Amino acid sequence: MHLSKSQYIRGRQCLKSLWLYKNRPELRTVSDDAQASLFNTGISIGELARDLFSSGVEITFNPDDFNGMIEKTKELMDNDTKVIYEATFREDGIFAMADILVRNGEAWDMYEVKGSTSARDDKGIVKNHYLQDASIQWYALAKCIRLNKAYIVHIDNSYTRNGALEIEKLFAIDDITVEVKEELENIEEELANMEQVLSEDLPDIDIGKHCDNPYSCDFSSHCWKHIPKENSVFDISYAMGKQWTLYEQGITHIDDIPDDFTFGANATLQLKHHESQEIHIDKEEIEKFLDTIEYPINFFDFETFQNAIPRFDQQRPYAQMPFQYSLHILHEDGTLEHKEFLGDENSDPREPLIRQMLQDINNSL
Ligand code: SF4
Repeated sequence: MHLSKSQYIRGRQCLKSLWLYKNRPELRTVSDDAQASLFNTGISIGELARDLFSSGVEITFNPDDFNGMIEKTKELMDNDTKVIYEATFREDGIFAMADILVRNGEAWDMYEVKGSTSARDDKGIVKNHYLQDASIQWYALAKCIRLNKAYIVHIDNSYTRNGALEIEKLFAIDDITVEVKEELENIEEELANMEQVLSEDLPDIDIGKHCDNPYSCDFSSHCWKHIPKENSVFDISYAMGKQWTLYEQGITHIDDIPDDFTFGANATLQLKHHESQEIHIDKEEIEKFLDTIEYPINFFDFETFQNAIPRFDQQRPYAQMPFQYSLHILHEDGTLEHKEFLGDENSDPREPLIRQMLQDINNSL
C-alpha cells in the first residue's frame, strides 16, 4: 500500500473517500477558487515560518522525482545539516514531507506549520486532524531518524504588527509530543484497516456528519446523489442535528416528515411556511424597527479583507480590515445622495475610511 499523509488523513475521515480517491478519482469535485486561495495562504505562511529556523536547506518539490527528494533529504542529514525544510521520506508505504526538521543533538524536532490561530479546540485538546497529521508524519519519520519532539507552529492572533514583522511574535509554537505518542498506538491498526479496505470492493459507508468533518469531502456530489436537490431535510435551518434522525428513518424530503416530528421554533416556522407556500413577513417587528429610523436615512454597505500575515501597523492576523464602502443617503424630501470610499491597496485603508465615513455621515445629519 502506498499512502501520502493527506490520503491517510482522508482515510481517517472516511474509508470510502480513501477508496474512491484511489480507485475513482474522476468522481471528485475539483476544488474551487476559494480553496485554492486558502491553499496559497498556507504556502506563504509555511515559507514565512521557516524564518523561525533560519539557514535551513529546502528540499525542492518535484512531483516527477520523489526518489530524488528522498535521496537529497538523506544526503543533507548525513552532511550534518541543522535545519531542513520539506524533508521527504517514504517508509512502510507512507510518503511524508515534514515542514521543518531541526536537529536537536542526536535526534530531530519536527515542526508542522498551520495557518490557523490554534492547534487546540476550545477545551484545550489538540485538534484531531492536526494530531493525525503530525502522528502519521512521526510514524514515517521515526522509521528513519530519531525524533525528539513534535510541534505545531500556528499563527498567534494576539500579535499586533508595529513596524517590521516580528516572526517570533507572529507565530506560536505548541508542543504536542505527548499527544502524538499516544496517537501512535492507533496508527498500525488504522493502516492495516485502510490496507484491507483498499484490497476490497467499494466499502458500504453511508453519508453522515463525517462528510463535513473535519473537511468538506470532495466526493459529496457522488455520495449525496440520492438527496433531493431542493427541499431536502438538509435544507432545514436550525435543525440541530434532527435532519440526521430523519435520514436514519429513510426520510429525505421535507414533505415526508411525519406530523408528530418536532423541531425548534425556527425550523417549525420554516416547515409551516413551506407547507402553506406563504411568505412569512413579520410586519409588526419590521414596523417597530422602521419607527426608530429618522431622516436622513444612511444605507451603509462596506467590504473588508483579511490577512493572515499583517501588512500594516496596528493590524492583527486575520483582523477584518474595511477598505471600501458605499453610502446612500435618503433625505426626507426623497432626494437620494451617493457617497463612496475605496482604499488604496498599498496603504492601510482604515483611518482614511473612518475619517471620510464620519464626514459623509455627519454631513448628512
Ligand atoms: S461524501 Fe461522505 S460518505 Fe462519501 S466519501 Fe465523502 S465522507 Fe465518505
